Amino acid sequence: MTAPSQTSATPRDGSPSRRGRWPLLGQRRPLMAYFCGIVALDLAAIAYLLSVTTFHISDVAAFAALTGCGAVCIEATRRLGMPAGVSRDLLSAWWLPVVLLLPPLYALLAPIPLQILLQVRVRATVAYRRVFSAAAIGVAACAASVAFHAWIPVPAELSSGRALPIMAAVACAAMFTILNTALIAVAVRTADPDTRWREFVWNRESALLDTVELCLGVTVAIACGLNLALLLLALPPVVLLQRSLLHAQLQAAARTDPKTGLLNAAAWQREADTEIVRARRTGETLALLIVDIDHFKRVNDTYGHLVGDQVLIGVAATLRNQLRDYDVVGRFGGEEFVILLPRADVTEARRVAERLRSRVGRMAVPADHAMVTVTISAGVAVMNMHGHDLIELLAAADLALYRAKELGRDRICLPARPTAPPPRSGDEITG
Ligand code: GH3
Ligand code: MG
Ligand code: MG
Repeated sequence: MTAPSQTSATPRDGSPSRRGRWPLLGQRRPLMAYFCGIVALDLAAIAYLLSVTTFHISDVAAFAALTGCGAVCIEATRRLGMPAGVSRDLLSAWWLPVVLLLPPLYALLAPIPLQILLQVRVRATVAYRRVFSAAAIGVAACAASVAFHAWIPVPAELSSGRALPIMAAVACAAMFTILNTALIAVAVRTADPDTRWREFVWNRESALLDTVELCLGVTVAIACGLNLALLLLALPPVVLLQRSLLHAQLQAAARTDPKTGLLNAAAWQREADTEIVRARRTGETLALLIVDIDHFKRVNDTYGHLVGDQVLIGVAATLRNQLRDYDVVGRFGGEEFVILLPRADVTEARRVAERLRSRVGRMAVPADHAMVTVTISAGVAVMNMHGHDLIELLAAADLALYRAKELGRDRICLPARPTAPPPRSGDEITG
């Protein structure tokens, strides 16, 4: 299942401000309205279904067993940790049987204990995100459950082996996945309008995971319908899959700067090295930019570090959205970013840098009573013009950035020295 960004609950400066204690209040108005709307819908559905659902001991036992399996999964993978950013797990393997086999009320309730467990045992994040996750999963699951029960009035038929109930289960499981992804995507888009829909609508990796979850969920539901004790057979393989999924996500997270989602300095350097070796081999050109936010300390001093962080995130997203997929973008540290532009010559590099400067200049981040805007300065260095390896290019771009700052900021500069001497034979290719 997809979960929204899980950043730290503690404000950077530990300030006890209202926004520090109630981080939801620091979000954009439309996002606050959206979160509150989904939670209200979830609560209203729980209240209504509580009043119309008849409780059976067998339903309560199945609910407890499936939630227990989810809890075992969480506990068994707890020590691995949970990556920051939008993360994935296989908890749907336990939610889908609840959706398909039990009355819709249980679908609304199932995410609540598991989100509490994640919050307490795995990663303490800002509480409103957990509440939203529980509500979004609950609403999507309830809608799928209502659809399945309308289609197949006797859910036990799922375990009869007949094709129709199984097809209905697959369709409703797909509906659950699509609804949940859509609810999370709207939240992420509302939080950051620069996010591309494409990242949610079509992402091969998450489509594969969704399919695995769907297959697991429907299979566990069929087994569970046959005999609740069969959950004991389903649990070990699901735990193993969950562990390997987390492991892969943690590996990816080790390459990523958690605040901005860009490559971290070490990963960027590795990828930049590879691109430079490739460019030298193919004789293609390549450019490197170092981008630094102007007077960023003033932003922190005036609006606080939390707003400063939002500005950093906004600048990073703007840079990423303005670049091609194969450009290599990283956070070098603090408020400094590095970009490698394969196949860009000096004209192209200047054009891209100018576009980034103008886009970042137009970006605004909401603060207490103002919209915060920033400018950037950038140093540009081009392969074989200002350097032949990563170290030389970085040094040249850094000098150019220094000039841009000296000349008044909010501008793009190239190094004063236009031509690098040709490499000596036997020189190292990479930095
Ligand atoms: P200049 O135009 O010369 O670049 O000035 P500047 O204020 O941007 O540069 P300076 O190096 O003086 O300050 C950089 C500031 O960036 C200081 C530091 O507190 C802040 N900073 C570094 N990392 C982070 C971060 O992750 N979050 C926030 N909010 N601030 C950060
Ligand atoms: Mg700066
Ligand atoms: Mg700096």
